[in-house]
Amino acid sequence: MDHLVYLDHAATTAARPEVVEAMLPYFTEKYGNPSSIYSLGSETKAAITHAREIMAKSIGTTSENIYFTAGGSESDNWALVATAEAYASKGKHIITSKIEHHAILHTCDYLASRGYEITYIDVDENGVIKLDQLKAAIRPDTILISVMFANNEIGTIQPIEEIGAIAKEHGILFHTDAVQAYCQVPIDVGKMHIDMLSISGHKINGPKGIGFLYIRKGVKIRSFIHGGAQERKRRAGTENVPSIVGLGKAVEMAVADMEERTSKEIELRDRMIDAIYKRIPYARLNGDRTRRLPNNVNFSFQFVEGESMLIMLDMAHICASSGSACTSGSLDPSHVLLAIGLPHEIAHGSLRLTLGYDNTQEEIDGVVDEIEKIVARLRSMSPLYEDFIKKTGGNK
Ligand SMILES: *Cc1c(COP(=O)(O)O)cnc(C)c1O
Repeated sequence: MDHLVYLDHAATTAARPEVVEAMLPYFTEKYGNPSSIYSLGSETKAAITHAREIMAKSIGTTSENIYFTAGGSESDNWALVATAEAYASKGKHIITSKIEHHAILHTCDYLASRGYEITYIDVDENGVIKLDQLKAAIRPDTILISVMFANNEIGTIQPIEEIGAIAKEHGILFHTDAVQAYCQVPIDVGKMHIDMLSISGHKINGPKGIGFLYIRKGVKIRSFIHGGAQERKRRAGTENVPSIVGLGKAVEMAVADMEERTSKEIELRDRMIDAIYKRIPYARLNGDRTRRLPNNVNFSFQFVEGESMLIMLDMAHICASSGSACTSGSLDPSHVLLAIGLPHEIAHGSLRLTLGYDNTQEEIDGVVDEIEKIVARLRSMSPLYEDFIKKTGGNK
């Protein structure tokens, strides 16, 4: 490609220029501490109040339930650890799914090491949580259900309202990691019976290192950082004013263009899925075809290695992601792809392409051309593929 094509928006996004512009004055001119009483301080306090209102409205709640954090991971950690502690006298059993982000799974490992018991619910071959299994897992000592709104690898959207209703019926708290779903699908915490919800700024064209945790009024939760009175004494420390303002701007813009943006993404997504199916044999779409994030494409290509594809795509100036947890230094296939039943060797040949608001049809078409070439080239070097073609008579 003649310019960089970024198709890894589930990993992170560029901040919109308007977001950066909105933030800049808060570094140099409007630098007052929001807790100060002079006007330099009250000005930044007002900016925070305004941003908080935008975020509250975006999920159908009011400002006092929005707590700023340093992003998705912190929100997830806080939601789980602090409710586990606050409700320990009621019980120590937590239910989650097998396809959560590591910010949830590793926090559950931590809680398990502190005497909590965790049940991990299976998903079906499309990545949808098994509701019957979830219901059957509920016990008198269950204090929390945490299920992600939409998956970051395969894009499957969960039946959140149903899960919320089940939790409510049993008097159990319900947390959802909505980092990927936020501003991609409409969210109403009241209607969906969500008690806690995590989001992150850098996944929605906002700044990195900022996010929020929604905590429904009435939920008992321990303070996350002890110190000053910020965030209703639950998360102390002088507010990250520029980032909060930037996140507010990002949310405002993402809410305003949600319908238009996501319908364009869906069009490009489906164009890409159809083209790959049509042009590349032995390819399998991972995740549900329709209960799917507007911007997610995830394919497994038999007889190729995801990592090799990424390197060759990088040489063609295309950023994508694979199904191996290479970031952790290991080459274990992703727990999500294993949970939907992919064998190891298929999971290893997976490619995730996630769209953003400014991707174009030309880019998508060009990327499919490249993928077709790369897959053919890698297969031509694969002894397994050669064997397979010999055995099947080479019918592509
Ligand atoms: C990115 C992501 C996170 C982590 O968010 P950070 O802001 O990077 O800490 C958590 N959950 C999901 C589903 C994500 O995609």
